[in-house]
Amino acid sequence: MSEIHKFLFEGLPVRGVLVRLTDAWTEVLRRRAANLEHGAYPEPLQNLLGEMTAAAVLMQSSIKFDGALVLQIFGDGPVKLAVVEVQPDFGLRATATLNGVLADDASLSQMVNVGNTGRCAITLDPQNRQPGQQPYQGVVPLFGDAHEKLEKLSDVLQHYMLQSEQLDTLLVLAADEHVAAGLLIQRLPMQGAGNLAGSSVATEDEIGVNQHYQRIALLASSLKREELLTLDVDTILRRLFWQEDLRRFEPLQGVKGPRFSCTCSRQRVSQMLLSLGVQEAHSILQERGEIEVSCDFCGLQQCFDAVDVAQIFHHPGQKAPASSAVQ
Ligand SMILES: [Zn+2]
Repeated sequence: MSEIHKFLFEGLPVRGVLVRLTDAWTEVLRRRAANLEHGAYPEPLQNLLGEMTAAAVLMQSSIKFDGALVLQIFGDGPVKLAVVEVQPDFGLRATATLNGVLADDASLSQMVNVGNTGRCAITLDPQNRQPGQQPYQGVVPLFGDAHEKLEKLSDVLQHYMLQSEQLDTLLVLAADEHVAAGLLIQRLPMQGAGNLAGSSVATEDEIGVNQHYQRIALLASSLKREELLTLDVDTILRRLFWQEDLRRFEPLQGVKGPRFSCTCSRQRVSQMLLSLGVQEAHSILQERGEIEVSCDFCGLQQCFDAVDVAQIFHHPGQKAPASSAVQ
C-alpha cells in the first residue's frame, strides 16, 4: 500500500517525510505499458519518473497549499517532457514523452540535459483559481553553481527548495518497477527575532539550530537506494534516527494516502475540441470519420463521431454525450 509518514524531531526545528509508493506507482506504469502507441518506459526513464513522483508527493505533503502541485522537467535530450501532478488529496498521475532511444544506463543529463538547457519547473495551481489569477511557478536549471550538469534529481530539487522557498532541504529518492520512494528532511524556518534580523547576523541559537539540522541531514543522506526501495518505513526510521527523539504522525494511506487518479474527462476533451474550432474538427472528421483523443496520463481513449461533434459545437454549454468512452 502507498503511504506517507510525517515526523518531527522533538524540540528541534527539523521535520521529515518518508513516502513509499507501491500500488499508486505500479498503476502509472501499468497504464503506460498498456498504451499500444508508446509502450512501457525504458528503465532509466521509468526510474526518473518514479523519483519525480515520489518527490512531488513529498513536496505536496510538506506545503500548506490547497491546489495541485505539478513537477515538470522540460528536457533538451531524447526525453522532451516528464510531468507529475499531485492533488491536495494525494491523487496523482504522471507521464513522459520520449523521442528516440535511450541507452540502458542513460544518466539524467543524457535523458533531459544534453545541451545544458533542460529545466525543472514546479507549479502550484490553486484549487479554486479566480479569473485572471495565475498559478505560481518556480523554474530552476539542471546545472549547479559552476554550470556543471547535475546528475541527481535530488540535487536539482534541493537547489530549488533553497532558491525558491529559502528552505534547507535534504532529499533521498529512488525508484524501480515496483516502488517509488523518497525521504525529505527540512529545516523549519526560524521564527521571531532571528528571522526578522535577516541572515547577516547569526546568533548562537541559530548556529546551534543549524548544527542539529546538519547532523540529521547527514544521517539521512546515509540512506542507500537499495534500503529505501526494500525496507519498510519503521525499519528505515529506526536505522537512521535511533538516537534521535522522533515524534511520528498518523500515516496517510488507503483513502487518505497517495493513489493513482486522473482528472481527465469527456467534458475537458470537449472543451479542447471547442477551442480547436469547428473547421478543424470537421476536417479531422472528414479525414478519419471520427475524432479520437487519448489521455497521456491514464490511457483513456475518447471517440467523437459527427453527431458528438455537432452537439459540442451547437450546444457548447451542455454536457457532452457520455457514449463511446473506451478504457
Ligand atoms: Zn486521463
